[in-house]
Amino acid sequence: MIDFELTDEQRLIRETARDFADGEIVPRARENDRNEHFDTELVQKIADMGFLGAIVPEEYGGRGVDYRTYALIVEEIGRGCSAMRTVVSVVTSLVCSSIVRWGSEEQKQEWLPQLCSGEALGCFGLTEPDTGSDAANLKTRAKQVDGKWRIRGGKMWISLGNFSKLALVFAQTDPEKKHKGLACFLVPTDQPGFTTQEIHHKLGLKGSDTAELSLDDVEGDMMGEVGDGFKIAMSALDSGRYSVAAGCVGICQGSLEASVAYSKDRTQFDRPIGSFQLVQEMIADMVVQTEAARGLVWRAGWLKDQGKPSTTETSIAKLYATEAAVKCADLGIQVHGGSGYVDDYPVERYLRDARVTTLYEGTSQIQKLIIGRAYTGLNALVP
Ligand SMILES: Cc1cc2nc3c(=O)[nH]c(=O)nc-3n(C[C@H](O)[C@H](O)[C@H](O)COP(=O)(O)OP(=O)(O)OC[C@H]3O[C@@H](n4cnc5c(N)ncnc54)[C@H](O)[C@@H]3O)c2cc1C
Repeated sequence: MIDFELTDEQRLIRETARDFADGEIVPRARENDRNEHFDTELVQKIADMGFLGAIVPEEYGGRGVDYRTYALIVEEIGRGCSAMRTVVSVVTSLVCSSIVRWGSEEQKQEWLPQLCSGEALGCFGLTEPDTGSDAANLKTRAKQVDGKWRIRGGKMWISLGNFSKLALVFAQTDPEKKHKGLACFLVPTDQPGFTTQEIHHKLGLKGSDTAELSLDDVEGDMMGEVGDGFKIAMSALDSGRYSVAAGCVGICQGSLEASVAYSKDRTQFDRPIGSFQLVQEMIADMVVQTEAARGLVWRAGWLKDQGKPSTTETSIAKLYATEAAVKCADLGIQVHGGSGYVDDYPVERYLRDARVTTLYEGTSQIQKLIIGRAYTGLNALVP
């Protein structure tokens, strides 16, 4: 039986995360967005709170919290600023959870404490210029030279790529083996041949760093074995999609709270606009989508905490919550009228930031194909 009742500890962590978001993240979100500033000082504060690597076991420097608690933290950070939520999702879910699950003891000891403390940031290099949704079809190549793996290729759209000390890089060791030749490498970024270029002019997530990576014969430390690459990527995305979904619940909640406050404050026709039925309809639509998204995220988290399969439920949560975030932010602008179209209120940033969430970590179409595959037993994702 799924139990949605929060424990006292979960309530406390949620309140702490909420206070932190309101005190530290919200006041900086607009300026960072305006200036396209990746706020590393704020990232360090997030790390100091223990919010990076929260699900990592304590012996490796994490907080060792369960997935439900993780969602509470990520929701609050997502309500504050999706650029910062992206940092948490990438470092915690894509990078740390992969190392926890697939890394050797030595790799865990080397990287996890640094990543949890904010001493090092990590990025996740799967997407390439010619390879997006078809993630098994990587062009980046890895070959062994004198017993060491050398990697050549390029990665595209990599969050935190310009600031990371560690890159998780997925590469093909033998094209003839197709996905069975894929491998995952831990690549320190401070070596010759590793270069990055910042990607500018994004629609949203302007306070997040996004990079193109170029790897010219760089050395990589393989995590797992040859043939594990695709499984590692998919398990990382299972945690990453959950985190994105939780962050989107934060966008829904933030849009709702801003809209309720504005609708009670703004008067037209000598009445608060919140008293008009059509405005209440928009608020009600936001409430329903926010609650539904949160419920789906908590269900996926509960399954993860029970150690039960959760890939389909995670895709359902990701699909619903990301689409709901776009809709709630859009409704939020509608409630705010013209004022919603400028950044005096957070709703226009919410919409711009929400828009990427239906694209990254698997587009909405890919989530539908994962869900369809689970229910039909037919795989649309193989040629
Ligand atoms: C800001 C930002 C940050 C990102 N951060 C990272 C990161 O940190 N690490 C990383 O590895 N990647 C990252 N990405 C990349 C992101 O995951 C990809 O953009 C995404 O997976 C889609 O790939 P694509 O852009 O190549 O689109 P494509 O795969 O070319 O898709 C284009 C369209 O075709 C549709 N489509 C494709 N195949 C099918 C199919 N079989 N059936 C139906 N429709 C299909 C898609 O749904 C989409 O609508 C980021 C992207 C952005 C924009």
